[in-house]
Amino acid sequence: MTTGTLTIDLDAIVANWRALAAMTRAETAAVMKADAYGTGVPRVAAALAAAGARKFFVAVAEEGVALREAAGPGAEIFVLSGHGETDTALIRQLNLTPVLNSPAQLRRQFDTLPGRPFAIQLDTGMNRLGFEWDDWAAVTDEVLAAGPRLIMSHLACADEVDHPMNAYQLDLFNQMTEGMRVARSLAATGGILLGPAYHFDVVRPGIGLYGAAPFGAGKNPLRLDIPVIQTRALIEGEVVGYGNTWQAKRPTRVATLAAGYADGLQRALGNGAQFWHGEQPCSLIGRISMDLITVDITDLSDEPASLCLIGPQQGVDVLAETAKTIGYEIMTSMGARYNRQYIGG
Ligand SMILES: *Cc1c(COP(=O)(O)O)cnc(C)c1O
Repeated sequence: MTTGTLTIDLDAIVANWRALAAMTRAETAAVMKADAYGTGVPRVAAALAAAGARKFFVAVAEEGVALREAAGPGAEIFVLSGHGETDTALIRQLNLTPVLNSPAQLRRQFDTLPGRPFAIQLDTGMNRLGFEWDDWAAVTDEVLAAGPRLIMSHLACADEVDHPMNAYQLDLFNQMTEGMRVARSLAATGGILLGPAYHFDVVRPGIGLYGAAPFGAGKNPLRLDIPVIQTRALIEGEVVGYGNTWQAKRPTRVATLAAGYADGLQRALGNGAQFWHGEQPCSLIGRISMDLITVDITDLSDEPASLCLIGPQQGVDVLAETAKTIGYEIMTSMGARYNRQYIGG
């Protein structure tokens, strides 16, 4: 099989989860949306559940199917998008906990699933999801009487430690939840790093489980090796790839690798991404095609069977910088065609 191999170190993910948990007295959940940021829910969630994670978050109810199977019947699975019109059956069947975001979602929950677990999201200024001040004030008593599992909000600028929005949202969240005897949650990975005032009762790391920014101090659990399917020798002046954008300035050995933008290697990576053969870097040359990329291997002393794009020499944040994006997008774009292999766990 000629596809990239994505090797995922479950022990490193668990170590990152534990390192984040050690920074707080709050309960540490795990955010598993987008198939655990591209790493694969079945194995990753099972490893975290085995390590003691009891609360998990997904974006939509459909993501709860694989997660319930992996994390077991005792795990609490929160659905961040809440209770949509078509979600009721799945929420009931899988015993999911919708995070209700609006008066309409609250009514739907109370009408269709009375007495079943739910959580509440408050908008503290991000203006994306959650109850606004007035809507919340109108239903607070009714909600508290029904016993929400969690009241949460989300920080817009937590990756910028000194951003004034952080303290603003913290203050508003405190005001909107003052004196309520309900578990509260505000912090994702960035919020954990802002310190204990932001932690409340439950923290919700996602990207930090993979040692990517803003938790670049964590371990890199990923390795992506792309197989070489052909090599050729070019004389000076020959060109490579669509649009003839790269021209050899010297006799050059070119390797063609089996991955492209259809596997999540954004075309913007063409501007300077490096591959690695052990500790030796090699430059990506020419345009990225749908299924293929070309790399200058002139300076290697042997013919590599594959080259490494993500690994010990280079984490997702380096690639993100090259492609002018963020580690989250690099990770969640990692191709469905890659052969995912797990170690540890
Ligand atoms: C994605 C998400 C998280 C996790 O964020 P990270 O920055 O990946 O840690 C937590 N809470 C909510 C509401 C989210 O949407």
